[in-house]
Amino acid sequence: MYDKGFVPGCSGNISVRVQNEILITASGCCLGELTEKDILTIDPDGNLPDNHGNPSSERFMHTEIYKRRTEINCIIHAHPPKSTTLSVAGLDLKTPLIAEAVVNLGEIPLVEYETPSTFELASSIADQFINHDAVLMANHGITVCGKGIKKTFYRLETIEFSSEVCLMTELLSRKNPIPRAKIAELIKIREKLES
Ligand SMILES: [Zn+2]
Repeated sequence: MYDKGFVPGCSGNISVRVQNEILITASGCCLGELTEKDILTIDPDGNLPDNHGNPSSERFMHTEIYKRRTEINCIIHAHPPKSTTLSVAGLDLKTPLIAEAVVNLGEIPLVEYETPSTFELASSIADQFINHDAVLMANHGITVCGKGIKKTFYRLETIEFSSEVCLMTELLSRKNPIPRAKIAELIKIREKLES
C-alpha cells in the first residue's frame, strides 16, 4: 500500500478480525515501516484489554463496521490520490464503468464529510457498509472491507484504478457506462464468486 502511494506519510490503517479480537495498526505509524510492535490487539468495542499501546484513532470505524458485517474479517482505510480526489470533488463510484469493479465491489457511495477519528464518522461510515463493501469519505479517502487481507487489498487496488478511469472520463467529458441490461449478468458472476 505504501509503495503504491495509497497511504502517504503516516496515514491509513489496517485491521484483521481473529475470532473475538481485532488486530489493528498503531496510531501515527508509517504503514511502509510496520513492525510487530505497531500491531495492537483491541476488543470488539475498541478497548485495549491490556491497556498497552496506542491503536489507530480510527479504530471505532473498524469496530462499528465489524459489528454490522459479521462475515468480513479485514478492513483497510487509505488515502490513495485518485480516490481521494473523487471524494474532494464530491463524486462517488456508483456509475458502472468497468466490469471488474462491478463484479468485485458494486456501487461505492460517497459519505458526507465528518471530522476524522470521531464517533459520528465511525457510525455514518459503518451504516453504509450494511449494503456496500467500500465507501468513499468526502475530503478524506476510502475504506474497504473483505473476507481476508489479500482480497481486501486487491479491492483497494481496483478502487484506485476505477477512480483513475472515472477521473479521466471526467476530463474527457465523455463517459459510456456499461449498458444497464448487462449489469444483471455481472451481479450473477459476483454472487457466484461469493458463494
Ligand atoms: Zn484517514
